Amino acid sequence: QFHTIKYEDLKWDESLGQGSFTRIYKGYRTDIRDGEKHCTEVLLKELDACHKNCWESFFESASLMSQISHKHLLLVYGVSVHGEKNIMVQEFVKYGALDLYLKRGKTVSVSWKLDVAKQLASALNFLEEKNIVHGNICAKNLLLAREGDSSQGISPFIKLSDPGISLAMLGKHVLLDRIPWVAPEVLISSENLTLECDKWSFGATVWEVFNNGNSPLKGYNLKEVPKRRFYETFQRLPPSQWAELADLINHCMDYQADFRPSCRCIIRQLNSLITSDYEILHSTEPVAQ
Ligand code: ATP
Ligand code: MG
Repeated sequence: QFHTIKYEDLKWDESLGQGSFTRIYKGYRTDIRDGEKHCTEVLLKELDACHKNCWESFFESASLMSQISHKHLLLVYGVSVHGEKNIMVQEFVKYGALDLYLKRGKTVSVSWKLDVAKQLASALNFLEEKNIVHGNICAKNLLLAREGDSSQGISPFIKLSDPGISLAMLGKHVLLDRIPWVAPEVLISSENLTLECDKWSFGATVWEVFNNGNSPLKGYNLKEVPKRRFYETFQRLPPSQWAELADLINHCMDYQADFRPSCRCIIRQLNSLITSDYEILHSTEPVAQ
């Protein structure tokens, strides 16, 4: 059910760090198309040896991504197996993860952020129509393919990355670590994983984007205040000053899963947000009369 790529056709380049269960490299793939040899930039995700028992779930994630196609979903070319190595071969996205991009201090406009939210909502709507739960939506898993430039009216362009190892396979500590992106009901049982869980994660991700990639629960990483306390006491993320945006995030992050909005409703709400409202709220410059 998925394309396998010959290990010999892969070339490994620089390391890009580690994921939760993976080592990540830039690389190249050679293949023959129309009788010609092509060399494509790729991203190689190698499953850590200590998690090799999860390879089926890892490959399932690859298979899922290669079976569906949407402009805001990352392309997965296939998988490659070499001895003990399990590798996912995917599209290389130029500007990398969105959280890091924003944390680097790039200033982007509100309409830029709103565009990102709309693009993610359209990917989510596509998944919802296909009845596919992603399960790992967060700013780290949004990859930036085009920076865009608000002054020239060019939008950014994002792609949602693969979900990786299924939530059902993950240990409790990994799930706790995914607070506030993972929906609270999933911590009770991974059988509670539904389309509604992605709505919760969407809310947390939009929060991150509008807060420049900052971690939503900074203060909760301390031992004295375990993250799980956040859910146990039904906390909410600090609301945006932009009331309409705060409403949308709150609606998505409703502790009661069936109160969360449908994607159509999310898209409608996003489309009704007028950036100038926000800009007036935050402008420090006197408004011209
Ligand atoms: P998880 O399953 O938790 O998402 P992962 O294995 O996908 O883990 P990440 O932490 O999401 O790993 O990604 C690690 C880093 O690799 C990101 O910060 C990003 O910079 C880079 N990266 C991941 N995928 C791509 C890609 N397709 N193109 C370019 N860079 C990527
Ligand atoms: Mg990822």
